[in-house]
Amino acid sequence: MGAALEIRNLHVSVEGKPILRGVDLMVKQGEVHALMGPNGSGKSTLANVLLGNPAYEVTDGEIIFRGENILEQEPDVRSRAGLFLAFQYPVSIPGVTLANFLRLAINARLKAEDAESKGISIGDFRKLMRAKMDMLQMDHSFAGRYLNEGFSGGEKKRAEILQMAVLQPSVAILDETDSGLDIDALRIVSEGVNKLRGPELGVLVITHYQRILNYIRPEFVHVMYNGRIVESGGPDLALRLEETGYDWVRERFEVAE
Ligand code: ADP
Ligand code: MG
Repeated sequence: MGAALEIRNLHVSVEGKPILRGVDLMVKQGEVHALMGPNGSGKSTLANVLLGNPAYEVTDGEIIFRGENILEQEPDVRSRAGLFLAFQYPVSIPGVTLANFLRLAINARLKAEDAESKGISIGDFRKLMRAKMDMLQMDHSFAGRYLNEGFSGGEKKRAEILQMAVLQPSVAILDETDSGLDIDALRIVSEGVNKLRGPELGVLVITHYQRILNYIRPEFVHVMYNGRIVESGGPDLALRLEETGYDWVRERFEVAE
């Protein structure tokens, strides 16, 4: 399988300040990668840039998704092409129910694949949504609630994974999906992700802590520091970080600004 997502020498600035300073990363379908690193190292910046957040300026490098350079593509185009981001801080959309939001998203995706598509039928959509909600142990009443409005931290993260489950992306980026989750919610969310794993899906799990990686076991682990990936390895790298913290990374890669 070729690379679904390939990031080459990516440099990104925010408000004129360089944040990412030459990131290289390749995620193939079927692979699960973890991106770890201390707070402020640039992990969320990378996630935002992958999805095309206009607040971030790409000053050099390329992002290739399914063979195309997507840097000039709008976020909705990237999303319809099969790139998915679960946000660290999901936003609420008062007035739009979770069900309506998901249905619009599915139909947009179907139309991107086939301009003649009439979209998913109400019946099929209900069935699909209920099956995925059951998988994530979400109460069906969530479907009728406004997106993320008054959702707890754990409910918001489950809603993000529900979106991923119904959209069936080829690459999913989960930014700190573990933050704010108690151990039960973490387990349910992780099991949901594990059920979605398969040869068609590449996953990039972004996390500060090793904890979620006990549940979503990655094949590859990368450590970001100061806007660069400074170390890559297997699952043992995450365990080493759990034991030693990030001090050795800081000591080894501290740069004089
Ligand atoms: P991480 O997710 O690894 O904690 P971030 O990507 O959130 O790191 O942040 C990396 C650096 O970029 C931090 O110094 C942060 O303050 C800065 N930064 C990120 N996003 C913005 C933004 N929208 N405006 C200004 N600074 C930002
Ligand atoms: Mg972050």
